Amino acid sequence: MKILLVIATHGNEKIGLKVVKEIEKLHIDNLIVKIGNEKALKLNKRYIDQDLNRSFPGKRNGNYEERRAFELSPIIKSADLVIDIHSTTSNIKDTLIVSKLNKEMLEYIKSIQPKYVIIMEKSKNSLISQAKIGISFEYGKDNSIIALKKIVLDIKKLLNHFGLIKISLPKNKTSTKYFNVTSIVSKPKGYKLLNKIKNYTLVKKGTTYATNKNKKLLADENFYPVLFGEKNYKNYFGFKGKYIAKI
Ligand SMILES: [Zn+2]
Repeated sequence: MKILLVIATHGNEKIGLKVVKEIEKLHIDNLIVKIGNEKALKLNKRYIDQDLNRSFPGKRNGNYEERRAFELSPIIKSADLVIDIHSTTSNIKDTLIVSKLNKEMLEYIKSIQPKYVIIMEKSKNSLISQAKIGISFEYGKDNSIIALKKIVLDIKKLLNHFGLIKISLPKNKTSTKYFNVTSIVSKPKGYKLLNKIKNYTLVKKGTTYATNKNKKLLADENFYPVLFGEKNYKNYFGFKGKYIAKI
């Protein structure tokens, strides 16, 4: 089984560098580590020309990220499991992002039992969309030691599940909430999100969620905010989530 661990898909998210140090101690055969956005990591920027996580499958003669995606695509496709490490400026906790949810993926997620799972089926240009099994980790802020420890623990749980390591690990008793991402919530110029809008907390149809002086943006349908508060999103607040289940 070939495992690919991708870190710094966004160059300013450095938590993956520390994750790698811990995972390499396990001496797993067939573990490949790749830095996603090398140039952006050196410059401590999210990206150079465009978001790498929206650039797949890439272009041979495209801009920097398109070329990088083009180089990485075959490596991602050939791996049996792709783990993609991110950090976030939003206040979400223990969130796994997957591009599809089938029976197998459900078993893998169950072996981890994170707090939240976001299914982004429509995101065809993401890194994990290229993978046979692709899981992105968004567990917390970049310098958070708690987030780091949890990512490492949960990767170990996954490796245990695949029989690649044999360590006795604490079981998570909490259940996992699943959300399907249905669309983007755009951020028109000058609008600010209201403080009461929280990730994974229902916004009811007709509720004001953002204002610009005395102008308001009202929810056109019930939705759960997902990945809201990410400072890196320029033109959108985050995504609309549809609650699926608690397992
Ligand atoms: Zn990221």
